[in-house]
Amino acid sequence: MPEGFGGRIPNCNAALCLNQRHRGAGCCRCVDSCPTDAIRLEGGRPRLDETLCVQCGSCTVVCPTDVFTQINPPEPTLMLTFQHLPPTAPLEVVCPLRSGGAESRAPVAAVVRHRRCLAALSVPHLLEISRQGERPLWLDDSPCADCPFGACHSLLTASVAAANTLLAAFGHPPSLALHTTHPEQLLPAPLARPVLDGMKPQLSRRGFFGALRQMGQERVERALTEEAPPMLRPAVAVDQRLPRRLPHSRKELLAHLSGLVIEDGLSQEAEIGLADLPFAVVGVDADACSACGLCSRFCPTGALHFDGPGVGALTSYKDAAYALDFQARLCIDCAICQVACPEEAIAFGDSLRTEQLLSARAESLVAGKMTACITCGAPVAEHIQPSRCHVCRQGAGKVTPLHDGAGLMTDLLRRSNEPRQ
Ligand code: SF4
Ligand code: SF4
Ligand code: SF4
Repeated sequence: MPEGFGGRIPNCNAALCLNQRHRGAGCCRCVDSCPTDAIRLEGGRPRLDETLCVQCGSCTVVCPTDVFTQINPPEPTLMLTFQHLPPTAPLEVVCPLRSGGAESRAPVAAVVRHRRCLAALSVPHLLEISRQGERPLWLDDSPCADCPFGACHSLLTASVAAANTLLAAFGHPPSLALHTTHPEQLLPAPLARPVLDGMKPQLSRRGFFGALRQMGQERVERALTEEAPPMLRPAVAVDQRLPRRLPHSRKELLAHLSGLVIEDGLSQEAEIGLADLPFAVVGVDADACSACGLCSRFCPTGALHFDGPGVGALTSYKDAAYALDFQARLCIDCAICQVACPEEAIAFGDSLRTEQLLSARAESLVAGKMTACITCGAPVAEHIQPSRCHVCRQGAGKVTPLHDGAGLMTDLLRRSNEPRQ
């Protein structure tokens, strides 16, 4: 096994994995991005083989629910290093495995050497070191083709594309470039450049810790001034069984998005294609939706919020109201809602408005009145005829194991057998 990048092995909190939340989640992003096959899924639980891990940081960036986290990663220090460089000077970031010393073909003023794989730079990191597009930023991915950890390259390409898409959507220049995606802008021959160490911000020790403290305080202040996400609203009975959590990585991204807003407000109406972004837009077929609430119950972040009476909550469901709301900025594109929906009522859009990324206001997807299932008495949307809930309709037709299309009962049984974490 080739030598790694050094630093701590990531922690693996398997309980947060999407595959633990729903058996049909089918996520394997960490497995696909790990260049050394150090991660395996065993019965839907991610396992990290520490002897194979090279500390590249890919898993910490690619996992949408922050299953992998690392103590003292080098990226915050790289951010500080960039903070003390001229704000608009074109710069290049290179990985520690790049040979060629001080020479670069990128049209930049200086080269900053990062401690580890460039794929460990998340979208918020890229927005920060490019100063929201103000600074032309090159990332040298030319060594990736021959790198033993080259499997990380697709993650780096995806993060750069996402950062550029967000910059363009908010009216900023898409200022990030890779050597392989913009070869026509490279110089014909390498030129000597000053090389800076990304782990050495130009600060005294006291100044360094002061700046780190200030960065932390600013983040907390930004988070506190945001409106509370819907999962902090008092939940109704149908939403109570599975815990919801907005991953820290998503909070970081949202904090950076607020920084992209241009004063005139015009950019907020722009449509953004979702192909490069870690967001999704959920749409619900109102005629097919039977108001079971399962999509919201399994949604890990609270992007979907169902308001309505749960089973056994009322003695009569006649005329009880239900509503399903959605917030695109909280959606991590996991597709669990679509898998969990027993009515196949959920489809995804391919674009959103920038305003949807900024606003904490939830938009209504469906709303209506309920009635009681004529077979079991559970609540069901009034427009579903005959008035049978999805479990009884499935039971009346083809018999399925536990009548459990969404995996709810299987999930419940499995959890009841698991030791408490
Ligand atoms: S990327 Fe995260 S959610 Fe997906 S399988 Fe890996 S640990 Fe689970
Ligand atoms: S992706 Fe990188 S940091 Fe994560 S387990 Fe694999 S080698 Fe280790
Ligand atoms: S709304 Fe988004 S985050 Fe929630 S389950 Fe659906 S795809 Fe996942």
